[in-house]
Amino acid sequence: MKGFAMLGIGKIGWIEKEEPELGPLDALVKPIALAPCTSDIHTVWEGAIGDRHNMILGHEAAGEVYKVGELVKDFKVGDRVLVPAITPDWSSLASQAGFPMHSGEMLGGWKFSNFKDGVFSEYFHVNDADGNLALIPEGVDPVLAPMLSDMVTTGFHGVELADVQFGDEVLVIGIGPVGLMAVAGCNLRGASKIYAVGTRPKCIEAAKFYGATDIINYKNGSISEQVLELTNGKGVDRVVIAGGTVDTFEEAVKALRPGGKIGNVNYLGGGDYIKIPRVEWGVGMGHKIIAGGLTPGGRLRMEKLAKLVSCGKLDISKLVTHKFNGFDKVEDALLLMKEKPKDLIKPVVIVAEDLMEK
Ligand code: NDP
Ligand code: ZN
Repeated sequence: MKGFAMLGIGKIGWIEKEEPELGPLDALVKPIALAPCTSDIHTVWEGAIGDRHNMILGHEAAGEVYKVGELVKDFKVGDRVLVPAITPDWSSLASQAGFPMHSGEMLGGWKFSNFKDGVFSEYFHVNDADGNLALIPEGVDPVLAPMLSDMVTTGFHGVELADVQFGDEVLVIGIGPVGLMAVAGCNLRGASKIYAVGTRPKCIEAAKFYGATDIINYKNGSISEQVLELTNGKGVDRVVIAGGTVDTFEEAVKALRPGGKIGNVNYLGGGDYIKIPRVEWGVGMGHKIIAGGLTPGGRLRMEKLAKLVSCGKLDISKLVTHKFNGFDKVEDALLLMKEKPKDLIKPVVIVAEDLMEK
């Protein structure tokens, strides 16, 4: 089978591989729609998770079940499914402890394009199919469905980590697709003011659509100073970090009120340490909690998030700005993601012929 792979740090290309082996609980899925992710860019061009050779990329997909293991109960060949980017081993102790994303080892639920081949492939392997796949419900456009794999669940996880409550003033740093879904998540959770940080006009327009009340341009000076000015020196109740660098934590801590929480979902591609300013962190006693997490994956989460879309509470169509027809366009879509032109939020590659736009 053919797949689009990371050949080594900074190198990509098409490769041929054997079809993956199917265990009794597993499924093989063929993609119907795919999306590249900023994480693929960190992985290939920053070497953020170390070197990988001939590893097929991609972890955002909707697909059609092609084969199922003999113990898979709920899915059959031909079912069209949502595929989460994170596919935990649900019987692991980490899952039982409430952290499925770390099943096996830290970040162990992140298998696709991390330590096994990803979804930019003619067929890809899904472990624990009953626990990880979800049927695409009526009312969810299969072409947009890959947005649920990672963008929606990750943006929302930032909101969960920051523990956003009714009426909270929230700072969302980064309004790429992940940050946009964090804005949408804050809005659904009843935030009052949502200060969103970014510069690309397309993303700013979408941030306003999803509920941002104020836009902050990080190129116009310190984010925290701008936030303190907008909040009469008080700062915000919560911060979600979905963009920036290791230095962004300093801004987040400075912008946060005592008792507040920071939820980071940004994938830190470089730098050895995260900076926490001593004084603004209350000289160690400010009750400013910093949490960082990989998004949870799995079937139940996919089903619940999809329900928000199918019942009209979450519009994911605003995330997709570019559509490509045909599996071989994966390369173009990934390179577009790397280049990040101003009008890009997220590209989708339509693989199934019946979904292609004429
Ligand atoms: P994008 O690159 O599309 O968006 C990044 C955002 O951050 C943009 O709005 C950008 O602004 C802004 N930004 C850039 N530099 C700074 C800075 N110095 N200070 C403040 N804001 C800045 O990324 P995505 O939305 O696709 O992904 C966001 C992050 O989430 C990535 O690191 C990705 O790898 C990670 N991720 C994490 C996952 C998890 O499970 N935890 C899963 C999926 C993704 P501008 O408008 O100027 O471009
Ligand atoms: Zn992703």
